[in-house]
Amino acid sequence: MSSSRVYRAPLLACCAILLLTAAPTAQPTAGRNLILITLDGARTQEIFGGLDVEVLRAGLKKDEQLEETRAYKQYWADTPEARRAKVMPFFWTEWMAAHGSIAGNRVGGSRFGITNTHRFSYPGYAEILTGEAHDAVIDSNDNRRYTFPTLLDVLKRRLSLSRDQVAAFGSWETFRWITSNQEDAFVVNAGYQAMAGEGPDVQRLSRAQFETQTPWDSVRNDMYTFRLALAHLETARPRVLYLALGETDDWAHGERYDRVLQTLERTDAWFKELWTWLQADPQYRDNTAILITVDHGRGRTPQDWGKHGNEVDGAQETWLAAIGPDWPRRGEWTTAPDAFTNQIAATAARALGVDLREELPNAGAPIEYLWGK
Ligand SMILES: [Zn+2]
Repeated sequence: MSSSRVYRAPLLACCAILLLTAAPTAQPTAGRNLILITLDGARTQEIFGGLDVEVLRAGLKKDEQLEETRAYKQYWADTPEARRAKVMPFFWTEWMAAHGSIAGNRVGGSRFGITNTHRFSYPGYAEILTGEAHDAVIDSNDNRRYTFPTLLDVLKRRLSLSRDQVAAFGSWETFRWITSNQEDAFVVNAGYQAMAGEGPDVQRLSRAQFETQTPWDSVRNDMYTFRLALAHLETARPRVLYLALGETDDWAHGERYDRVLQTLERTDAWFKELWTWLQADPQYRDNTAILITVDHGRGRTPQDWGKHGNEVDGAQETWLAAIGPDWPRRGEWTTAPDAFTNQIAATAARALGVDLREELPNAGAPIEYLWGK
């Protein structure tokens, strides 16, 4: 599928005017920031337990020894806690230990999941962003825009944000349609898509994405998505950023279990880089709510771990991690009430002081448990 290239005028002229007119003592505006992150189809099994040795064993080639595989050498340990920390060390030993909490470890008594019955991507992302399953209407992964306003649409309007202050970066091109009920309401860059106007580093990245093809026509490498998002964070300083990473799903469909684990490990390094940047910046430090989740789970067994869809048991089971200045919970949820993907939009909005359900009355309620209630 060919990519559409969107060029925007350089911002130099307006920035120069701003510099001349801004009061020298101007401070960053008060108010929380939001970063929503999704890792397409990342299973609870790897998030909470790291390497699933039965999946790795089932994928061995003829005469290949389990203990000799790179994935085993890199990620095996005796306990789920030790294994998951090998895959995502920053996430577990820093974020979840000192700054946030996570729902969805069924082994530990916490249940989180989607309410749509499709168990594939577009319906899952739509549920995250609109606060509601739309099973009868949103029933394919086609590049289509729907009429339902999204969390990003509502926040832009309610917080009177400019086009640059709400931004979505996705590895999958379909995010150009998923993220808003209007075209070009805010910055969206997804799939193989050029990014203009933010300096020479961004221009190099923007060009390079077309020169480094993935095995998938509609998904670029997550590296471009992350780096372009971080560059936009640094230059445009959005209040609301959505980062949608996709390689976890694509490698799983390709039955490359080793690459799924490597992708999670690389993503963990990006989390650390993002956090380091946020905590060094006065607008974002201790002032940013971060929610991390997935659009669907996958099968539970060595036979169907790579699959999802309405006939795959386990693909309805997902997870949600939350890091934020107003959320006192730490570590894994154990005795919390069940929570669902349709509650994420209202939870994210409340973190910014907005009652989403005034605009979207059918959206799931905010997850009170995060606020310690
Ligand atoms: Zn998928």
